Amino acid sequence: MQRTGSGVNFARYALGEMTILALRDGHVDMPPSRLRQEGDRPFGTDLPASVQLVGGKLRLSVNAFLVIARGRHILIDTGAGNAWEPSMGLLPAALEEAGVAREAIGTVAFTHTHLDHVAGLVAADGTESFPPATRLLVPEAELPLFRRSGRLARFRARCTGFAPGFELAEGITALAAHGHEVGHTAFEVTSGGETLLIWGDIVHVPSMQFSRPELTWEFDADQAQARAARREMLARAARPGCCVAGAHLDFPGIGSVAAEGEGYAFTPL
Ligand SMILES: [Zn+2]
Repeated sequence: MQRTGSGVNFARYALGEMTILALRDGHVDMPPSRLRQEGDRPFGTDLPASVQLVGGKLRLSVNAFLVIARGRHILIDTGAGNAWEPSMGLLPAALEEAGVAREAIGTVAFTHTHLDHVAGLVAADGTESFPPATRLLVPEAELPLFRRSGRLARFRARCTGFAPGFELAEGITALAAHGHEVGHTAFEVTSGGETLLIWGDIVHVPSMQFSRPELTWEFDADQAQARAARREMLARAARPGCCVAGAHLDFPGIGSVAAEGEGYAFTPL
């Protein structure tokens, strides 16, 4: 996989015959207490010095990814739109900067249904961000969560559930990575012998959770399952020829993973 272009809010890559775009939705700052050690305990004065803070907070990048395969445009996650902090909601501008018309996107698939991944379906002016014909794919275990959202009411009847193993398109397969949320899903994208694992929220704090995958996140619905999923996905990502794309890895959020000591190390591409 190699980078073929970039702008302020996007980076473009070639993955075999496919094109991958990393799209910046923005960032969100969170208190370091969100990071949890064994037993779901927040750190206090014992917060490791290697945790990177901005103004005393953890800064999480919020990224979405577009896969272009045989002319089909498949968007993975949509950012937060205007539903959360004003530091997010850049996705439409990122697409425009990358020269991708929103009308070109035929499928939107979600890693899970948290606000910073689904709320961008609605544009800041209240209209739909993507054309009404766009196929909306939601992990089936999270259809009830998706349908509970008032903001997303207009999409309730139009979304389709999918299970692990589902092939979104040739070379793009859904993998169970449950734990952060009940249906949390990774997408394995393969072309020309290269693989990209678009893994959603497997890592929230890159400065800590690669080297110490046992650390969890306050918003992991099931801490133990999220920890196990992280270990499984890290092992999968550490294979030769594989890169990862993370929703909360520092923008553009794409790089490689290698085993190091008791944990792993991440190298941005
Ligand atoms: Zn997230």
